Amino acid sequence: MNRDHVKTVKFGGSSLSDANQFKKVADIILSDENRRYVVPSAPGKRYKDDVKVTDMLYKCNALAEKDESIDVYFDGIKKRYNEIIQGLGMTEFSLEEEFETVKKNIKNKSGSDYAASRGEYLNGKILAAYLGYEFIDAADVIFFKEDGRFDEDKTNAVLKGLLKTHDKAVIPGFYGSNPDGTIRTFSRGGSDITGSIVARACDADLYENWTDVSGFLMADPRIVENPKPIEIITYRELRELSYMGATVLHEDAIFPVRTVGIPVQIKNTNDPDAPGTLIVPKTDVVDTEHVITGIAGKKNFSVITLEQDMMNSAIGFGRKVLEVFEKHGMVFEHLPSGIDTMSVVLGTGQLERCRDELVNELCRAVEPDCIYIEDNLALLAVVGRGMVGERGTAARVFNAIAKAGINLRMIDQGSSELNIIVGVNEKDLDNAMKAIYEEFVK
Ligand code: ASP
Repeated sequence: MNRDHVKTVKFGGSSLSDANQFKKVADIILSDENRRYVVPSAPGKRYKDDVKVTDMLYKCNALAEKDESIDVYFDGIKKRYNEIIQGLGMTEFSLEEEFETVKKNIKNKSGSDYAASRGEYLNGKILAAYLGYEFIDAADVIFFKEDGRFDEDKTNAVLKGLLKTHDKAVIPGFYGSNPDGTIRTFSRGGSDITGSIVARACDADLYENWTDVSGFLMADPRIVENPKPIEIITYRELRELSYMGATVLHEDAIFPVRTVGIPVQIKNTNDPDAPGTLIVPKTDVVDTEHVITGIAGKKNFSVITLEQDMMNSAIGFGRKVLEVFEKHGMVFEHLPSGIDTMSVVLGTGQLERCRDELVNELCRAVEPDCIYIEDNLALLAVVGRGMVGERGTAARVFNAIAKAGINLRMIDQGSSELNIIVGVNEKDLDNAMKAIYEEFVK
């Protein structure tokens, strides 16, 4: 068996929402014999106001916990799957027994993780039968530790071994098992993580992540009209962009493949010929035309500023300030500072419960001349490996913002020269993003 070329392919919920989508998925898988390991999500939305099967399962579980009847609701779930089975013409195949088991277990309060995981489990059963691939239950190969964290070592060892004996297989996404055998799920959207774990375990050449968009775009399409797609991006750039709000891939999904350098390709099930976005560990390919790779923005930040004369010579000032944040279990995003000022930028949500207490403690810790909190800050990240060594990029960012009449509240250029972060008022975020996009791309 030639194992030189192995692809792990993950399909999101919208790619498997009905029989028609299943057929597209099967065509994609069967058109390339390297697409050997398939990770499906549960059936997602078929139209805008539709309900995902995962959400239906959570709802069922909530009813069961209140000792209410789940019969009607569970029938709705069965209907979703049966429509797929019928639509695919799988006359010999039935999930009736599985449905009975799942229903019984939900009624017996097997918990919300168990209930939610059945969306992927049942979809995986259908897909495996339709493709003629083997079915591997994720509960037997994906493991969590006692404290709930993913057990990388055990998973790798078991999954690696098992995949060696399975030429082609479907492994449902989103869940695995606890040390006591009960089911645990990743956070929402977690099938991306399963795909990444499987890709790593089979030493895949490529992890294809099939969704309903043709990869990442250079900016948020809700703000910038028709932004250009990103054809190639590094893990680091992607991390910066997704952290700042660009969503396509689950944030944690990158880590398993990143450690071993497997590239990830984002592809569109509804437009399989579109190139999509290739995520790579490193690349010499630089978009010299645009310099930047992408822009992302996020609202809801606050800045706490402390001022004190001669702060630059006050030993331990920064440490004492940060200790107060640490004590409250708070994480900060940026620390812009001047000679006599130090600012801490953090998510506003963290201040909800202890705003006054925090200010009082900071006053006690460092006795600043002045301390104030400003809210409604939005951060914008301009990310690009092409910025290294390209003079004038920062100036172009600031100019574009100034020309749009927007007041810049904060500037931070990471030492990696991979990004420039600017802070603006929340109300200016959209215009700032448009202005930067126009400057570099149009
Ligand atoms: N079905 C799960 C969810 O809706 C996991 C996934 O789709 O990745 O979050």
